[in-house]
Amino acid sequence: MTEQSQAIKDQFGRPLKDLRISVIDQCNFRCTYCMPADIFGADYPFLNKEEMLTFDEIIRTAEVFASLGVEKIRLTGGEPLLRKNLHLLIERLFSINGIEDIALTTNGVFLPKYAMLLKEAGLKRVNLSLDAIDDEVFQSINSRGVKTSPVLKGIEAAEEAGLQVKVNMVVKRGMNESQILPMARFFKGKGHILRFIEFMDVGNVNGWENSEVVSKQEIINTITEELPLKQLAPNYYGEVATRYRYKDGDGEIGVISSVTDHFCDTCTRARLSADGKLYHCLFASQGYDIRKLLRQGITDNMFKLEVMKKWSTRGDRYSADRAEGKLPIKEKIEMSYIGG
Ligand code: SAM
Ligand code: SF4
Ligand code: SF4
Repeated sequence: MTEQSQAIKDQFGRPLKDLRISVIDQCNFRCTYCMPADIFGADYPFLNKEEMLTFDEIIRTAEVFASLGVEKIRLTGGEPLLRKNLHLLIERLFSINGIEDIALTTNGVFLPKYAMLLKEAGLKRVNLSLDAIDDEVFQSINSRGVKTSPVLKGIEAAEEAGLQVKVNMVVKRGMNESQILPMARFFKGKGHILRFIEFMDVGNVNGWENSEVVSKQEIINTITEELPLKQLAPNYYGEVATRYRYKDGDGEIGVISSVTDHFCDTCTRARLSADGKLYHCLFASQGYDIRKLLRQGITDNMFKLEVMKKWSTRGDRYSADRAEGKLPIKEKIEMSYIGG
């Protein structure tokens, strides 16, 4: 698709700028807050190969989105590195007109195997999830007995391949708030930005309670008692992480406070599930079936019109509604299905 990108706006005047693509709904971990092992067991109906979008279908979708203003793509899952030949998809995504940035969110375990291929495919950065630096705490979270060393090796492999690394830690009370300081100490001075994420009420299976949210303020207070911090200005409009620098100059951290703050006013993100459903919000209930359109042989122009029509009716602002006490009670999609 070579024509100029056509900016479109939703009901609140928000443009479509980012596309998050989940490439698989399966994962090698069973993080208790994301894919509880008792629910995501051996008989869980994960998507089969035919149900998932092919690379050709993903590329066609990305081309249409790029023609409507999308500049940034994030690949996620499930665990995206479980999708075979992901590097080939990345290479093709980079060749799309208008796509300026591609990122990957991963639990890092497969990076020693794939980091170099990903880098050669054009990837520049990865967000790596690690919720504890203590083996026992980490093992009790991932429910697969995986110690921290495979993830730390993943970080090393990414570094060696020349990828920029950000480390993400979800903080949930009763699960890992004891790890806030040890994680800060461990990553301070190592050149990676560590970002703490408030535990969110995504999906239905993780039994989210407001009391389990460790707020941005609490996280910052905990760190600053030992390692004083100074808040920094955002890097760009709509940045979701609040940035802080250690006062001794030895590194930066971020906090993503999706519960105690909200970012709906500047949310420019659309999400595509591995089976081709389009969602306009992380907390959506229903997706729009893109796979069906593609497999029915829709033309590029009609496809574009459909996406434009949908985006122009977008009125999602779940976190803002939550903050205003107007929380709708509804079934929501799961994080492992739609990605972070
Ligand atoms: N498997 C990959 C990983 O863990 O990085 C990619 C998919 S995972 C769903 C994406 C991110 O969502 C991870 O950083 C994970 O910790 C985060 N996440 C999952 N459930 C969450 C929740 N309820 N609240 C906040 N973050 C969550
Ligand atoms: Fe898997 Fe990522 Fe969810 Fe953990 S957070 S279960 S690694 S998809
Ligand atoms: Fe965007 Fe929905 Fe999150 Fe608001 S709640 S920032 S609309 S994904």
